[in-house]
Amino acid sequence: MVEKGQKLTLEITDINYMGKGVAKIDDLVVFIDDAIEGDTAEIKITDIKKNFAEGKLLKIIKKSEERINPPCESSQKCGGCQLMHLDYGTQLSYKKNRVINELKRARIALDDVNVHDTLGMDEPFRYRNKTAFAVSKKNNEIIIGPYEQGTYNTVDISGCMIQSKEADEAVRLFKNLMVKYSIEPYDKKTKKGFIRNIVIRNNLQNDLMFIIVTDTEYFPKKKEVVKELSEGMKNIKTIVQNINSKNNNLVMGYKNIVLCGDGTITDHIGDLEFAISPETFFQVNPVQTEKLYNTAIEYADLKEEEICCDIYCGIGTISLLAAKKAKKVYGIELVEKSIQNAIHNAKKNNVQNTEFFAGKAEEILPKLHKQKSIQADCIILDPPRKGCEKEVIDTMISIAPEKIVYVSCNPSTLARDIKLLEEGGYKLSKVQCVDMFPWTVHVECVALLSL
Ligand code: SAH
Repeated sequence: MVEKGQKLTLEITDINYMGKGVAKIDDLVVFIDDAIEGDTAEIKITDIKKNFAEGKLLKIIKKSEERINPPCESSQKCGGCQLMHLDYGTQLSYKKNRVINELKRARIALDDVNVHDTLGMDEPFRYRNKTAFAVSKKNNEIIIGPYEQGTYNTVDISGCMIQSKEADEAVRLFKNLMVKYSIEPYDKKTKKGFIRNIVIRNNLQNDLMFIIVTDTEYFPKKKEVVKELSEGMKNIKTIVQNINSKNNNLVMGYKNIVLCGDGTITDHIGDLEFAISPETFFQVNPVQTEKLYNTAIEYADLKEEEICCDIYCGIGTISLLAAKKAKKVYGIELVEKSIQNAIHNAKKNNVQNTEFFAGKAEEILPKLHKQKSIQADCIILDPPRKGCEKEVIDTMISIAPEKIVYVSCNPSTLARDIKLLEEGGYKLSKVQCVDMFPWTVHVECVALLSL
């Protein structure tokens, strides 16, 4: 019988979906932070649940061959990157295996399915084009940084290896201004103070959009801060104030006030140009996005006479790429502002064969199908982590496109949805993982299903 507090020496045999090491004591599975497959480690049991236990790594007795020294000094404190102690090549195979395991778990036959090796990055650092940091105060000092693993405590870091150097510099500049003008961070407990979070977005040329998330519309020394931010760093092209007055842990609220510039930045994918607003989704790793989209377009194999539907289209990135090949592309997306951007992006890129609809995919797609407005030969979909609503799956099956290209950021909902599509007459033929988030457990992939 295993007990809480017990110390044991265990062999780690796997890594789970959260990046924790997995060991077994008879039938009991133990999850251990910072341990990896191949380690033999002394651990302490910290918690025992019904089906599993949790352990804390005390000492590594035999080091896994895949273990490396974390390249980031904050990795122990910061909850952002869970695989910092795992060799990059092994991260890539871990991600492929996760997809295979999820597909198997959903009872999808893989005999004639090609699951390709994960496409990784040559330089897996400084890849992010978006940073969201919390702002708080500790021992009378302002701290701007990510949350500590598993908590809402802000970690003080001097920089982040996966975000741009310019974003690091902008964080430092803003922190200095908060100190200079004695601007207080918002404190959730006392409900006092002003600044909740900052979000920085950058494009490939390192133009920055600086978003200051406040509790109310007012924050002191606004004019001075905006002036010094934009003059202090020429890369900062636009500054937006976002207001989140709700008692929640969401980074941003729904109201944006443009304080400087035009409230957008422009980025490129291939030869297409995209305007990005504070609230619109844009893939966070531009180098890998190109590989992801190229795979999706290759899998879609669109012909001149074909009609394509891009569900969960965001600002129309995949739609515009598909429109170059197909006769017509329909895009569906929940966020109204994203659809405005998509229409603007189509015009800007002189693409005339797209049509966009704002609203829930689970409502719009069935409606369009009922009105016989959509007869797609190919559906590309890229849903959020929770995957598709049942209505979307059912409508896709009844539209019956020849090809379905499923872009997914969550292999477990991908597997669930593929199973439903297979029951509706589709067959999975290939899967390509693309590493959009090196050092983290996040897995992105593209799957092709055919009727
Ligand atoms: N394909 C785009 C966006 C993918 S992210 C790109 O690569 O940039 C997923 C998108 O789905 C987000 O833009 C989100 O706003 C949208 N979304 C979330 N729930 C939705 C729903 N129920 N119906 C339609 N779109 C939704």
